[in-house]
Amino acid sequence: MIPSSTQRLSGWGRYPAEDCKVFRPEKRRSVHEILDSGQEPHYIARGLGRSYGDTAVNGGGGVLSTVRLNRMLSFDEESGILECEAGVSLAEILEVFLPRGWFLPVTPGTKFVTVGGAIANDVHGKNHHRDGTFGAHVLDLTLLTPGGDVIDCSPESRKDVYWATVGGIGLTGIILTAKIRMQRVESAYMKVDYRRLKNIQETLATIRETDAQYQYSVAWVDCLARGGALGRSVLLLGQHAAPNELWPGTGDPFGARARKKPGVPFDFPGFALNPLSIRAFNGAFYAMHPSRDGKIIDYDSYFYPLDAVNNWNRIYGKRGFTQYQATFPTGKEDGLVQLLERLSAASCASFLAVLKRFGPEGKGLLSYPFEGYTLTLDIPMREGLLAFLSDCDRLVLQYGGRLYLAKDMCMSADSFAAMYPRAGEFRKVRRELDPKGVLSSRMARRLRLAEDTTS
Ligand SMILES: Cc1cc2nc3c(=O)[nH]c(=O)nc-3n(C[C@H](O)[C@H](O)[C@H](O)COP(=O)(O)OP(=O)(O)OC[C@H]3O[C@@H](n4cnc5c(N)ncnc54)[C@H](O)[C@@H]3O)c2cc1C
Repeated sequence: MIPSSTQRLSGWGRYPAEDCKVFRPEKRRSVHEILDSGQEPHYIARGLGRSYGDTAVNGGGGVLSTVRLNRMLSFDEESGILECEAGVSLAEILEVFLPRGWFLPVTPGTKFVTVGGAIANDVHGKNHHRDGTFGAHVLDLTLLTPGGDVIDCSPESRKDVYWATVGGIGLTGIILTAKIRMQRVESAYMKVDYRRLKNIQETLATIRETDAQYQYSVAWVDCLARGGALGRSVLLLGQHAAPNELWPGTGDPFGARARKKPGVPFDFPGFALNPLSIRAFNGAFYAMHPSRDGKIIDYDSYFYPLDAVNNWNRIYGKRGFTQYQATFPTGKEDGLVQLLERLSAASCASFLAVLKRFGPEGKGLLSYPFEGYTLTLDIPMREGLLAFLSDCDRLVLQYGGRLYLAKDMCMSADSFAAMYPRAGEFRKVRRELDPKGVLSSRMARRLRLAEDTTS
């Protein structure tokens, strides 16, 4: 028997949770032994569990944690190409390479995600409009299939496997290693221009006008504001700062270090978060951020404000929360406005929502981003929420929009099929790589990407 432990696992939103058998291999060669052992009916890889929903949850089956497969394998100082195991986290990469002048090509809003997780969800950052997804900077990867083959694939060789795996939510195999092209930067600081915008129309117009001039662009939206203030926001427009732009006396331009983190020591009671307290928070944020140019802030505060508090997901209490992320195509902004109206009217208590513009769609068969506007917000679990969200899903569909698998926990298989038109192609590649259905997850079964072999 290969050692495993039973753990109640969920995504970052803490809902839904299921009992899974967790395996923690330390060597790449042990991964195939686990998949081949037949100990569990099916398996799914799991990185740092930062997806919000059920993509790395596998009740009644095995979960293969990759966090011990975290070796850096090589780095080319000239080209910035890093080869590492899939369990290396973005935080570990930054710690080693930022002081040497290299930054991640794309980063999500937390650095506590693994390279494998970043590829399997083909994550995006505040620079999608310019630089695309994480997968666009992966030069090649090695994939262990359930049958025991190790496939070296890239945009040039075994393209079918590569584009099914980039964004493939762990269902094509276990990513063992990847080569990533890093970007060179001149400091660990960001130069940020702020724009305080009075409603959704002004927000969308300003994003459109400014996007091309900035590498990073994201708006924090007060989604509890109503009427003429619906969608009021603070837009943050960022660039990596040059050494001569830093404050005098800054010293080492790479001297900014990740902050020490206080934690949330217990689950907050349900009443702590309510529309009143959140309205006050959102209002204060808006008031405190007037338009201004050229503020210098360290990379950690700019890219990862939420990482400053350990286990911040506990503030939503034991019932947990979901993160709803919907993208509307360019020209269908009316859908976005309607969604905001619906959320605001339902007082879906949420701290600031995030709005950004995506650039062109990538090639990953299940990759999420496509050209348009994407809105993301946290919603605490409560009675009736699932029905409310399925109404929102219908609205998103009606406008040709799409929900993000890294965040989702309840979309129906039919909505998924309508939102992800390349799912058929994905299934075909998956059948070739995993004919016996060894890989599965709660999400895969829910979205009919894998058979339910437990019931
Ligand atoms: C605060 C916060 C902010 C975020 N901001 C963003 C954002 O701005 N943009 C964005 O795109 N996402 C964002 N996310 C989501 C997060 O980036 C993704 O969910 C990411 O995939 C999580 O990586 P992980 O290592 O935790 O993987 P997990 O959540 O553990 O797993 C994610 C998926 O990857 C698969 N997987 C993991 N490792 C492997 C492997 N080695 N081989 C094959 N499959 C594997 C799993 O099976 C699963 O399907 C955010 C999440 C949080 C908590």
